[in-house]
Amino acid sequence: MRQSIRRRSRQVLELSGRQWRRAVTARADGAAGTLSHRSLMVIAPHADDETLGCGALIARARARGDPVTVVVATDGRRSTESAVLTPDQLAELRTAELATACGRLGVPDQDIRQLGFADSGLTTDAARLAAATASVLAERRPEVVLVPTVQDDHPDHRAVHHATLRALDAVGHRCLLLAYPIWAWHSGPWFLDAPAAQRPALCAWAVRQAVLGRWWRVPCGPYLQDKEAAIRAYASQTTNLTEEPTWSYLRADFLAAFQGPDELFLPVRLPGATA
Ligand SMILES: [Zn+2]
Repeated sequence: MRQSIRRRSRQVLELSGRQWRRAVTARADGAAGTLSHRSLMVIAPHADDETLGCGALIARARARGDPVTVVVATDGRRSTESAVLTPDQLAELRTAELATACGRLGVPDQDIRQLGFADSGLTTDAARLAAATASVLAERRPEVVLVPTVQDDHPDHRAVHHATLRALDAVGHRCLLLAYPIWAWHSGPWFLDAPAAQRPALCAWAVRQAVLGRWWRVPCGPYLQDKEAAIRAYASQTTNLTEEPTWSYLRADFLAAFQGPDELFLPVRLPGATA
């Protein structure tokens, strides 16, 4: 009985999540043209965020010949508990999966940058993360930079968002900054797993996005196939690879939120910008 109540509640939550995502998408402006013929840099906290949040956009850009740099902050060594794989083996595996996934999106190895930080440690390494991000920004000078939304309920995601703002300021680089939602996209509008103190503000943000939000929408179109192929490349993140009970991976309902017909991006105003 209790299990059936729990299952029903989960179904209701998944339904309201889908409705919220649909409402945000319905208000979004088409941006495929605006993002054409520009150099892109996707900054991801973990290998897989770039694919989940921007996979179709990356494949679309690469099919057109636009340059795309993928920057991944962490090396994946602490992505799960495992007695079968050592942290070094996990990092090696995530690096190989990243290269395969990027290959499926048309990004060659020389356009992938791994910053090599340990997972779940980015908040304590904020200054070094900002410096490493500044260095790739200064090297590539992309016209469009994509980072996770600051509403993602994951400290590494928020750390990457803040570090990128800091790095852009340090380099003095002008660009279009867009945020792609990962945890916020799946957890909205209720954010049940967020700390209780943060939940009211996150829920209020979600309601505002459904009613007033002006997101940018890029249809996945034929590039959804490339995105799905890239997602499949992350076997360590989408399946229980070692069949250990401790192995953590993304469930089907989470992945489904990123396999819809559109990708959504939220323009971020840079500090000091006038418009
Ligand atoms: Zn992540």
